[in-house]
This record gives sequence, structure tokens and C-alpha cells, in this order.
Amino acid sequence: MVEMLVASAARAVPATVRGDFPILGATSDGMPLTYLDNAATAQKPQAVLDALVGYYATANSNVGRGYYRLSHASTERYEVVRRFLNAGSADEIVFTRNTTDAVNMLADSWAHGQVGPDDQVLVTGMEHNSNMLPWRRLCEHTGAELVVVPVDHAGRVRVPDFRDALGPRVRVAAIAHVSNVLGTVNPVRDLVDAAHRAGATVVVDGAQAVPHRKVDVRALGADFYCFSEHKAYGPMGIGVLYGRRDRLEQLEPYQVGGGTVKGVRLDAPVRYVPAPGRLEAGTPNVAGAVALAAALDYLDELGLDVVQAHDGLLVRRAVEALSTVDRIRTVGRPGADPSGIVSFTVDGVHPYDVGGHLDAHGIAVRSGVHCANVFLDALGLLGTVRMSFAVYNTEEEVERVAAARRTVRPGPWTRDHPNERFL
Ligand code: PMP
Repeated sequence: MVEMLVASAARAVPATVRGDFPILGATSDGMPLTYLDNAATAQKPQAVLDALVGYYATANSNVGRGYYRLSHASTERYEVVRRFLNAGSADEIVFTRNTTDAVNMLADSWAHGQVGPDDQVLVTGMEHNSNMLPWRRLCEHTGAELVVVPVDHAGRVRVPDFRDALGPRVRVAAIAHVSNVLGTVNPVRDLVDAAHRAGATVVVDGAQAVPHRKVDVRALGADFYCFSEHKAYGPMGIGVLYGRRDRLEQLEPYQVGGGTVKGVRLDAPVRYVPAPGRLEAGTPNVAGAVALAAALDYLDELGLDVVQAHDGLLVRRAVEALSTVDRIRTVGRPGADPSGIVSFTVDGVHPYDVGGHLDAHGIAVRSGVHCANVFLDALGLLGTVRMSFAVYNTEEEVERVAAARRTVRPGPWTRDHPNERFL
């Protein structure tokens, strides 16, 4: 019964929400905008735009820098994130610039003290460069070994392969919750349990999960979990790092300066405030945090179970519609629980030519390696064309894409750069 209600609510989602997104009224050369690049960044509802402008119009002040009421109104924003992620305490929430910033903070400030030349750092073969390169650089700096867990032919990380890669030397395992290339959902709880049994700390990149499914950091058991708000209907320039309290306490300040200290005297060591303050040096992005809270509330009101069911509907529709088009292959297998992304290739046509062709039809998709070069190597592909969905996307839009693809032809990229890879 509940499932039926969720399914019917899911079908109604786009009609309910489309009017909330001003940009969707725009046209591209007279054609309606079909925006299917939501894994790159999602569009913003009016409630988020209002929160952003409203903050500067009525509430602008610098948090924690004075003793007047406006400057103390930030606690609620940490609480919104705590609730959204089901974290144990608002002190476990750190505002960052984005996912990339959070992973760099961890690799730099936390892992540097934990990882030495005899250690290993584990990443999966499907990581975005933002959850790969900071760890790789950490290994270059410390002499530790970077171990990459292979992905299987369907683009999944299998628990036994992950377990095989774990050993007593692994200090940290960095894993994506959801792949930004295929939408594959990793069995995070199983991976976390295996890593913990081996004594490793787990960092989860939730950039592609948070916009699409309920994330409960305590149920997942991750030590650290991060995401970027701009992919979840909020503004650019703000993201979140969740860290279990005992773990966050291990982080040295990433940057130092205003807001991080208890007291400064030239003749004594600097005393830093506890997390999150010690990890948020300088004037924070308060307007971003206000708009982030509005965006998370927006998602919460829609219901993440309904959002997830709507995603699943579109993924299945897209796979079905593409299967009727010659020369098109969908990449990987979304499995029973797909998450908002369908990647495909067209035989004999460079992904950039496919993207250009769709653009001429007013359709925005992403073509290339999606900042996941190692994953694309493992899949043996030059690149893919990626459709990625949001709450406002409709089955009709998905069908529009399949129809436009029927006429796709090799173009300048196929002719001049047939085997060249671009971002
Ligand atoms: N991880 C994943 C899985 C992503 O999809 C992205 C964005 N494409 C990132 C990390 C990086 O996000 P940001 O650029 O917002 O830091």
C-alpha cells in the first residue's frame, strides 16, 4: 500500500515541481530546455533563490563576529543538515565549499597524521577524480601505497573484491556512494563493515547520492561523508562534511585564521576551538548555508522515497527507450535500484558529436569521461554520453532524447579526434 502511494506520488512529481524552477521556462533557440545534466549541477527552485536573496536583503551579517542577534543565527543551519543526514550531533557537521574541498581537507589535515610509508590507501575503481586525486597525492607525499579496488564488467564494486583488497596496512578506504558515470549504488554498509573489521577508516563521497535517496549516516556507519549542495538544488560554493565526532576531533585545522581559535598569544601555543569551528577558517558562506537549508527542506518536503522512486522510473524508461535505437549501447547495468543516471555510447560516433547533436535539439547532456578517467579506462571507453535526472524531469523528456538520437551522425569530433579523450 505504502509502495503504491510512493509510486503514484513519484509519477506526479514533475508536474508538481516544474513551476518551482524559473529556469525551466527558458527556451533554447525556440525549443524548450531539456536539462538532463543534473549530475553536474541541478537547477534551483524559487524557494532557494528567495533564501539566497532574502539573506542579503534582510539578514546579512557575519556569523560569530559580534554580540548582536543577527550574527548568532547560524546554529539552525547545522541542525537542518544534522536532521537531513541523521547525524548524532550538529557538531559533526562542517560546512565546506563542496565535495572536492571536503576530500582535500580529509586527505590533507586528517590523513597526513594517520598515514605513513608502510600504509595503504584504498579507493574504488569508480571514483570521481575528486575522491581519487587527493588520496593519490597523499600517497605521493607520504610514501603510502594507493590500492584501487577493481570494478566488474557491469561497472560495480563487488564486496568480495573490496574485502580481498583490505589488509592490516589499509588505513583509509575512500568510496563513492553512487557512481557519477553509471548511477551504480554501492553497498556502502557492507563496504563500511568490511573496512572497519580490517581497521580502516571510511570516507564516503555522497555527491551523487544526497540528491536522490535518503542518506542516514548513522545507518551507513561511515566515519566521514561529504556532498556538494549545488547538485541537490542548492547554491554553488557550499557543501558538507559529516564526521563522526571522535574522527572530527582528529582533524588538525585545514586552514588557520579567524574563527578557528580560542585564544592567541605570541608567547604560547595557539588554542583552537573544537570542530566544526576549527575547520571553518575565515568568513563562512552564510548566504550559501541559508540557501542550502532551504534546498534540503525542499527535498525533505518532497520526500526522498518519492524522489528515489521518480528517478527509478526515469532510468527504466530511458533504458527501455534507448534499447529501441540501433547503434546505441547503455553502459553498465543500473541493477534493481538505479540512481538517476543513464550513460550510453553510439557506435562510430564520438560522445562529443552526440552531445552537440542533442544540444541542437535543445537537450543538455554531459559527454566525456565525467572526471572519472580511471573508471572509463576500466570500462574500456573513450567516454560516454550521460543523461542525469532531477525531480523536474519527465518521461516525455526522456523520450525526446531517444527520438533525437535516431538522427545522430558522425561529426567533427569523430572525424578529427576519433580516439581522443576529453574531459
Ligand atoms: N564526487 C562525485 C561522485 C561527483 O559527481 C562530483 C561532481 N561531479 C564530485 C565528487 C565533485 O563535486 P564538486 O565539484 O562539487 O566538488
